[in-house]
Amino acid sequence: MTNKYNRVYNFSAGPAVLPVEVLEIARDEMLNYHNSGMSVMEMSHRSKVYDDIIKTAEHDLRDLLDIPDNYKVLFLQGGAHLQFSMVPINLLKNGVADYIVTGQWAKKAYNEALKYGKINKVASSEDKCFSYIPDCSNLEISPEADYVYICENNTIYGTKFHTLPNTKGKDLVSDMSSCFLSEPVDVSKYGLIFAGAQKNVGPAGVQIVIIREDLIREDLPQWCPEMLKYKIHADNNSLYNTPPTYGIYICSLVFKWLKKIGGLEAMKEYNEKKAKLLYDYLDSSKLFKGTVEKSSRSLMNIPFVTGSSELDKKFIEEAKNKGLTQLKGHRTVGGMRASVYNAMPIEGVCALVEFMEEFEKENI
Ligand SMILES: *Cc1c(COP(=O)(O)O)cnc(C)c1O
Repeated sequence: MTNKYNRVYNFSAGPAVLPVEVLEIARDEMLNYHNSGMSVMEMSHRSKVYDDIIKTAEHDLRDLLDIPDNYKVLFLQGGAHLQFSMVPINLLKNGVADYIVTGQWAKKAYNEALKYGKINKVASSEDKCFSYIPDCSNLEISPEADYVYICENNTIYGTKFHTLPNTKGKDLVSDMSSCFLSEPVDVSKYGLIFAGAQKNVGPAGVQIVIIREDLIREDLPQWCPEMLKYKIHADNNSLYNTPPTYGIYICSLVFKWLKKIGGLEAMKEYNEKKAKLLYDYLDSSKLFKGTVEKSSRSLMNIPFVTGSSELDKKFIEEAKNKGLTQLKGHRTVGGMRASVYNAMPIEGVCALVEFMEEFEKENI
């Protein structure tokens, strides 16, 4: 590829592509951050310099998402997986929760929650290999439910909730890992949002949690480890123990980048443009086809197949030689998947579609 750094177009589902501008700033600030004489990696998380970094990160995130004042922003660790446990441990009061299972991540969260209470699967799309989002306008929500749980964008299957479920007044908990900051969100519609950084906002190791204050409880079971209490992290502004300092710094650069390009409205427009290029081609192709019901399509993760595993394999191999990498579908689905997160430039999607057209001509 003829670009300055010989970078490929990286369609990985995560850890995933980051904006070049962000990586350049990180490079330039690597050895001596803002005249501190050291790298962000080397400084105390209790220093004034670092305090500015984490406070600015939170401030910019609040700006981007217009987060109401009665919500806390936490920078944690343990990935989305730890939230599969922390959510039920902290939010179950009546001991009942309703889960909507639209993919492997929601299923994992559901299975984990089963350890802590009476957990109901109120809807699922497993009957059709999670290729759609079920109608959630009138589910049998348990009167006792402490919350309703969704995985908003299903990274593996490429589906997204375009309408939030009717929770009948219950608090909504959303795993937004793979669509976080891809478009504006009305935070007030949620009780809790969590997102792993490595899909759309930064490096692996940072977990962002946005939680309404009244859901932060003190009266947790005696056995609950301190590190698994939202309250401990909220009371200490995410500095109860050493946070993933460098990862949070990179996230803060991504937040600045998002603000610079015009915020989440502008980001959404760009993401729609990119996804449309690929979906339009898939809808017209005689070789490739998308695997997801149209009304459930994700802007971020776009799976597709040729119908022949031989051809899929050949495509992935040849695409790689053209600098279009990480296009292999998830091992449970097969085929291909193009993840087109915020930082994927439109040129990358154009290059992919061009190559698909070429491949189609030669292989049909
Ligand atoms: C990647 C992903 C996860 C798992 O994240 P980990 O950081 O590996 O725990 C969970 N949910 C969604 C939606 C994801 O995309």
